[in-house]
Amino acid sequence: MEEKAKNSVHVLVIPYPSQGHINPMLQFSKRLSSKGLKPTFATTNFISQTMNPELLLGSDIDFDTISDGCDQGGFLEANDIDDYLVRLQAAGSRTLTELVLKYRNTPHPIDCILYDAFLPWALDVAKQFGIVGAAFFTQACAVNYIYYCAHHGVLSLPVSSSAVPIAIPGLPLLELRDMPSFIYVAGSYPSYFKMVLSQFSNVDQADFILVNTFYKLEQEVVDSMSKVMTPPLLTIGPTIPSVYLDQRLENDKDYDLNLFKLDSTSTHWLTSKTPGSVVYVSFGSMANLSIHQMEELARGLKQTGFDFLWVVRASEIAKVPDGFAEEMGDRALIANWIPQTEVLAHEAMGCFFTHGGWNSTIEALCLGVPMVVMPQWTDQTTDAKLVQDVWKVGVQVEVGEDGIVSRDEIEGCIRQVMEGEKGKAMKENALKWKELAVEAVCEGGSSDKNIDGFVSKILTQCK
Ligand code: UDP
Repeated sequence: MEEKAKNSVHVLVIPYPSQGHINPMLQFSKRLSSKGLKPTFATTNFISQTMNPELLLGSDIDFDTISDGCDQGGFLEANDIDDYLVRLQAAGSRTLTELVLKYRNTPHPIDCILYDAFLPWALDVAKQFGIVGAAFFTQACAVNYIYYCAHHGVLSLPVSSSAVPIAIPGLPLLELRDMPSFIYVAGSYPSYFKMVLSQFSNVDQADFILVNTFYKLEQEVVDSMSKVMTPPLLTIGPTIPSVYLDQRLENDKDYDLNLFKLDSTSTHWLTSKTPGSVVYVSFGSMANLSIHQMEELARGLKQTGFDFLWVVRASEIAKVPDGFAEEMGDRALIANWIPQTEVLAHEAMGCFFTHGGWNSTIEALCLGVPMVVMPQWTDQTTDAKLVQDVWKVGVQVEVGEDGIVSRDEIEGCIRQVMEGEKGKAMKENALKWKELAVEAVCEGGSSDKNIDGFVSKILTQCK
């Protein structure tokens, strides 16, 4: 039987509506488009109102919307997380169904729903219409496997201090603090915890499972998890902009869909700095530090004597000590939101002081930047462990008894990465991972082959 022509295979991409999920799924959509498929990226109505109209006009992919039940204010419109997730599922399933129906009698009906694994109800919609369903896991394979073990009772919950260290095939021995926080902080964020476990509620019915990592980075855990999962895992990452990897797409230097107001002056500021001299500090799109912690961070950064670029989102800016920016003068740039991959790729970059979100972690690895990790919650605690002990590209801060990471600890960790033999070794390791990441996505690499396999199977299934 004849295969459907590539560009008539229509893939509807549904990310969980947050920056850390939109970025990798949008990048992956671009890659599918470069392989000849026709992706439509569906954000929520609320997010679509904040999108740069140029993105809609100039992109290779199409955009559409579903509802999260909070069309006016997004997440902030809901009473709390529980309320948001209930609304997202109810309105999301209904409007996703409507979207599939909308395209049904057009020249481009939906052939495949590529859904964020956080949204297992999207697979139910795909099954209801008999179309291909592909799960996309945006977090590290290690973290997915820990959740899998928790979901399947291999890891008994609640995990207590008497159970440590915890042995999971393919992973280093884990202490409690190395587990994703939803597991080790008993009862924290029960609805998020339910959501991350529910990724596995129906995934065995998916036609494909894609994971945003690359094989050599997480080889052992990918192999362990592949043994117990059907369909088999396909590592397809890293999904960072292609100019840093295989230059597949011209001008693909950074993520296109920023949920925060972008300050592009940072790259100009970096050009005035010497190579390898700057510390870049960011806690991603969600973390909120206490005022006390922000004070310690500011003082610790000052104590290092290094220049630094510090992303402080508008909602956090009041926590920066009064007059701190003026006190630092040209030594520091404090910005609301910056083009992170472009900044990490800059030759002035010396070290990334990060919360250890998976995108930030894999971006730093792929751009050869060593890290200091100060995890806050969710998967960041596990990422921090892997950065320090498995990939050996950084150090993790120690939290004091008062729950605060002190200025001296912050200074000491940054010095370890920026100076001396240990720092040099971490930089060399980071460059080694960069090479392997490029190898994975270039033609014939492990991720590239998996993407090609995915594309050709979709073509066959959608014939
Ligand atoms: N990011 C960015 N500009 C910033 C800070 C972050 O573009 O000023 C991007 C970063 O490159 C990453 C994403 O936002 O792709 C954050 O995702 P991550 O998983 O690291 O953390 P989360 O925000 O989900 O906690």
